[in-house]
Amino acid sequence: MHAPTTAPARPRPHREGHAPDPAAVALAFASVPLVGSPEQAAQGCVEALRALTSDAVRIEVPTRPVPLGVGDAREGLECVARFSAPGGQGELLCGGAMGGWPAASREAVVQQVERVWGLHEQRAAQSLELDQLRFHLGALQQVARTLAVVRGAEETERLVLDSVGEVFFAWWAALYHTDGEQYTCRAVRSLRGESVAYAIPSRVVRAIAAPGQPPVIPPEDAEIRDHVPAEVAVVAPLDFGEGDAGLLILGRRMTDAPYEGHDLALLRALADSSAIALRNAELLDRLRAQATIDPLTGCHNRRGFDEILQVEVSRAKRYARPLSLVLLDIDHFKRINDDFGHEVGDHALQRIGRAVRHTFRTTDSACRHGGEEFALIFPETPKDEGLKLAERLRLLVESLPPNAEVPRTLTASFGVACYPDDADSIPDLIRVADRALYQAKSNGRNRVEAA
Ligand code: GH3
Ligand code: MG
Ligand code: MG
Repeated sequence: MHAPTTAPARPRPHREGHAPDPAAVALAFASVPLVGSPEQAAQGCVEALRALTSDAVRIEVPTRPVPLGVGDAREGLECVARFSAPGGQGELLCGGAMGGWPAASREAVVQQVERVWGLHEQRAAQSLELDQLRFHLGALQQVARTLAVVRGAEETERLVLDSVGEVFFAWWAALYHTDGEQYTCRAVRSLRGESVAYAIPSRVVRAIAAPGQPPVIPPEDAEIRDHVPAEVAVVAPLDFGEGDAGLLILGRRMTDAPYEGHDLALLRALADSSAIALRNAELLDRLRAQATIDPLTGCHNRRGFDEILQVEVSRAKRYARPLSLVLLDIDHFKRINDDFGHEVGDHALQRIGRAVRHTFRTTDSACRHGGEEFALIFPETPKDEGLKLAERLRLLVESLPPNAEVPRTLTASFGVACYPDDADSIPDLIRVADRALYQAKSNGRNRVEAA
């Protein structure tokens, strides 16, 4: 039946004239396992040919990462069949026994090894494809989980770049947005810290990619390479809807592997879900801002005021620092409305809003506290400083020249209170500032009063 797999000495060759016919060859190779590993198939082929020839036999297959060599030593053997196999071309080698065989018998051996290794090649390709699909599925699941929670734009940008960069082992990944004229970098994740914040003209982007289309490897076109450097390996268009577009750009991979068709297919899916997540993040940020910003004046609204005062008074308490609160109420504002109409009243509010927003440091907060009343929160500011700031603002308001939108000079009254001098709780602080404001009104308006 079978020759021993590891013969201590080479078996004696068949006597001439005893060549097997093609059917006998097929029968011998029928026992080669087709579903096992390449090693088992190689072993089976060696045994089958040994049984037919009683000669030394060797098979070599260029499998990766380690090539396969099974059977007797190579010296003195001649190649009797070449066949296509996983990793490239395989060789079947034998002593002289097949020398006298008729062509049909030799051909039958070639056919049999081709059949066995053709199947293995197919299976290797399928298993590679399965591995890739499994990897894609895992990556998609991970990114879907990450992006399922709606976060702010900055955090979402970071998550998108982290997950896409990791999936493709890219040295860097960057997000670009367009203003119509050109694409500019919004966020970068770079493992080597290189700068990739180029500006790319829109016409160059249009020449290589279109919103909603698959990712592309930029062509080696001189005009394009002038604006898209060689480190840019893949460009994936992002469609944010309503004509708003962006790009997800990846650098070369740490493995130096090229981006292939299946990588681009995966990147397209990731880019599409990233675009949705980024758009949602943008909307969330806008809603958050709307929730705490007064649309008429651009100042924080009452809710914003409450939140900021809470944070700042806690900080002042913790570090034993002073904080000044200034309340501003426009004088005789009702007359503006009555004399010129509500539209002019609104312009006047916008004017005062601009003044309070732009007069002070960025750490100071300007809030619209009520109808025509504003509140200013000055952290790290003792009472005398707070009084000076209020006086500065009073002078500024009274010096705003009348114009077409607001045809009258405005004045305002101010009440100033300080933590911890005047109060040590938020409600008390507001109450004493309000009382000081009332004092300013009853003392003749257009003036500053301290609590
Ligand atoms: P005082 O000097 O005592 O503060 O007099 P005043 O007229 O400013 O005070 P009062 O509280 O009597 O009137 C405030 C007015 O502010 C009443 C209201 O019509 C007006 N107002 C409040 N919010 C708005 C707004 O959003 N737009 C406009 N146009 N007017 C507003
Ligand atoms: Mg008022
Ligand atoms: Mg008023």
